[in-house]
Amino acid sequence: MAEQTIVVLGGGVGGVVAANELHSRLKEKARIVLIERSLRQSFAPSYLWVMTGDRTPKAITRDITRLQRKGIEVVAGEVQRIDLAQRAVAVDGREISYDYLIVALGAELAPDALPGLADAHTYYSLAGAERLHDALATFEGGRIVLAVAGLPYKCPAAPYEGAMLLESYFHSHHRRHQMELAVYTPEPQPMPVGGPVLGEAIQELLAHKGIAFHPRKQLAAVEGAELRFEDGSSAAFDLLVAVPPHRPPPVVRDAGLSDDSGWVPVDQYTLETKHEGVFAIGDVTRIALTDGMFLPKAGVFAHSQAEVAARNIAARILGSAKRERFDGRGYCFLEVGGGSAGMAQGNFFGHPRHIAMRSPSPVWHWGKVALERYWLWKWY
Ligand SMILES: Cc1cc2nc3c(=O)[nH]c(=O)nc-3n(C[C@H](O)[C@H](O)[C@H](O)COP(=O)(O)OP(=O)(O)OC[C@H]3O[C@@H](n4cnc5c(N)ncnc54)[C@H](O)[C@@H]3O)c2cc1C
Repeated sequence: MAEQTIVVLGGGVGGVVAANELHSRLKEKARIVLIERSLRQSFAPSYLWVMTGDRTPKAITRDITRLQRKGIEVVAGEVQRIDLAQRAVAVDGREISYDYLIVALGAELAPDALPGLADAHTYYSLAGAERLHDALATFEGGRIVLAVAGLPYKCPAAPYEGAMLLESYFHSHHRRHQMELAVYTPEPQPMPVGGPVLGEAIQELLAHKGIAFHPRKQLAAVEGAELRFEDGSSAAFDLLVAVPPHRPPPVVRDAGLSDDSGWVPVDQYTLETKHEGVFAIGDVTRIALTDGMFLPKAGVFAHSQAEVAARNIAARILGSAKRERFDGRGYCFLEVGGGSAGMAQGNFFGHPRHIAMRSPSPVWHWGKVALERYWLWKWY
């Protein structure tokens, strides 16, 4: 059998799962190339625990060159161009041809897209979570504002987890009485894609912890120690923690893979783009749900989409007629502090969509810990 080359762009959640899955199915029957700019990869759900000091960056970071031991070719570099006509990608000036392509380039954080936001704290990056942890240790008290700067953003639970973990952090450090906490978001409720019952449940959790919730607030700019919103209102802060705006990687737009939104449209079940043999998975994609909302950007979906795309490519190469479909099922833990978490799960492709929340308990917190350990052990 002639050797075929499968190129995976991006070595985050989706890319690492896809490369592993391709390798486990195809072994030496195909050349698998994984291209990634940052060889040190960390588990993003644990950034919240870096913020609170419950994890060190080292404990949640792995080197993806470890995948080379399995026979996966790891190329360190910047994907500069995707040439769909020539079926090749350019990486730091080098051309790599492909028979199949999986685009797993994620979403970029764009704090510079909003005036004045670049200096805000964020736990949406590992470096940001570390810096915020240091700032919390010396913060003397005042108004902490957590602001979601724009839609879409990854992990719809993370702003609410972040607010509750901040509350819990100050509580356990006996400084809660010195803090006022508030969340501002353009969303009409927490996790709108989960429906009103889930939103209500999260709002109750926030209220119970004394965290003010301000929906439908689209941030326009940060000026000094004040947030300015598009509706003309403003809010003061002493410490600003932001979920920065997200944008699609420019290389996918330049390649002609994206739609007007900049994200990549795909077949929701197979993750194939309109270009033969080219798949896109995870945060870089845009999948419309039946009510006009979009599938959230979340690792749980990047993971299952990677498995589907990789298995179907392997089946094609092996000449098997068997195909898998991504079914839209997902779950997410919601850390509430004090060693407890809730868990929301459901079928995002369902009609009607029903996303149910299990009440906070230590069980779900340990579920997230188990997921973290499994993830860091399994894929590297
Ligand atoms: C604080 C936080 C908490 C989260 N918690 C959860 C959670 O509890 N559950 C959950 O399901 N999800 C969670 N997520 C979301 C989850 O991390 C993402 O949805 C997931 O990582 C998406 O996977 P991906 O493969 O699409 O993109 P990524 O994992 O972001 O990987 C994309 C990769 O592409 C690389 N790349 C991009 N452009 C280029 C280029 N031009 N050249 C070379 N390499 C490039 C990047 O360096 C990156 O490594 C959380 C995210 C954050 C920030």
